Amino acid sequence: MVMFWQPLSVESWIGMRRGSLSDVKDSVNTIIEDVRVNGDKALFSLTEKFDHQKLSSLAISSEEIDAAYDHVSPELVQALIEAEARITQFHELQKSKTLWLEEMEPGITLGVKTTPLDRIGAYIPGGRAAYPSTVLMTTVAARVAGVPEIVVCTPPKVNPLTLVALDIAGVDEAYQIGGAQAVAAMALGTETIRPVQKIVGPGNVFVTQAKMMLREYADIDFPAGPSEIGIIADASAEPRYIAADVLAQAEHDPNAACVLVTDSKKLAAEVGDEIAQQIANAPRREIMEKALAHSGYVIAESMEDATDLMNRIAPEHLSIQTVDALSTLSGIRHAGSIFIGPYTPVACGDYASGTNHVLPTAGYAKSYSALDVNHFMKRSQVQMVTREGLESIGDVIEALATAEGLAAHANSVRLRRE
Ligand code: NAD
Repeated sequence: MVMFWQPLSVESWIGMRRGSLSDVKDSVNTIIEDVRVNGDKALFSLTEKFDHQKLSSLAISSEEIDAAYDHVSPELVQALIEAEARITQFHELQKSKTLWLEEMEPGITLGVKTTPLDRIGAYIPGGRAAYPSTVLMTTVAARVAGVPEIVVCTPPKVNPLTLVALDIAGVDEAYQIGGAQAVAAMALGTETIRPVQKIVGPGNVFVTQAKMMLREYADIDFPAGPSEIGIIADASAEPRYIAADVLAQAEHDPNAACVLVTDSKKLAAEVGDEIAQQIANAPRREIMEKALAHSGYVIAESMEDATDLMNRIAPEHLSIQTVDALSTLSGIRHAGSIFIGPYTPVACGDYASGTNHVLPTAGYAKSYSALDVNHFMKRSQVQMVTREGLESIGDVIEALATAEGLAAHANSVRLRRE
């Protein structure tokens, strides 16, 4: 068994996942103030400091995007096109009617008008790995929603495949800046970058903390920080598959974390042995080992207990590996995205099945949902009341308005009824 595959408690997991965000509050605040005061100048200097790149321009040009195709194989371009089609198809299903009106009773018609946001920003991580898939996840959802202006920020030295993804997704503006400074630029605006209404997308602790601190200026999707997987499994599960999913998550980031909750001590030990074998030749072993240092397993008294524990963890990704997975699913209340059965690795949703991989982390799946079309829409409630309708609710309105001491409200109804 690898030395890092250790028993965990749910309490230590929850504390550890929230803790890493608050650790960087001060440094993120300094970055935000620099961007607020110095605008573009701060973006150039912070990029030099944190990304070690001297930029000549903040914007990514269409020439750079066109040139990127020369560095990407046709097979990879085709893979992006296919993934984009599947993501579009799934997100189209989430669209609601742009307007519905229902006559509730004679003369009183109510409804909802749904409108896309005007301008959104997507953060595409790029520090330790390239995330062309995240370009598709964030911007396709916004495009399907009908957002007319989609802006992307991603750290410099942008991977050619990410540039191609920007083109395939039909992004309107793209900037080569990363970290908290990119989030600050999109929220506050600078000489070059006009502010957006909402910022979506995952990132490391600096990015996520900046999103949370700038909510006063731009709405956000949710905290989508370092990746996590929770696996709920019983003795019927295949340890090799679980170990493979653990390592797939661990390779994202030293702050990524994985937790297996099971009623089988034997399975927990076997998964540890498998991790030790599979990690031996893994290309990103160093990152994995750091992530595994705060990963491990929780032994539950029963599978009901395991379900309760997993609901307290509320993982970003939840893999269900039990003999009756659909019945386990029925007990799950909190998880960002759920992967059922031995042949549904999390990687399906990361890339190509069509579901979104931008998900709430650090237990925020208790109150937030996976990124979808609704994150880019807002709803206005609509009503249309006729003279007859006003007659039927007029007494109620006048009575309540008068009781609240709002005579003008009551009068606005009374004079129409005269
Ligand atoms: P990133 O783009 O999020 O962060 C890189 C940026 O961080 C750099 O551009 C730099 O400006 C800034 N930075 C680095 N060190 C800094 C420091 N000491 N102080 C201030 N700023 C600093 O890329 P990443 O680091 O590879 O992280 C990507 C994250 O996104 C991973 O944690 C991954 O797990 C996560 N992710 C999450 C989801 C999700 O939906 N939750 C999906 C994909 C990826």
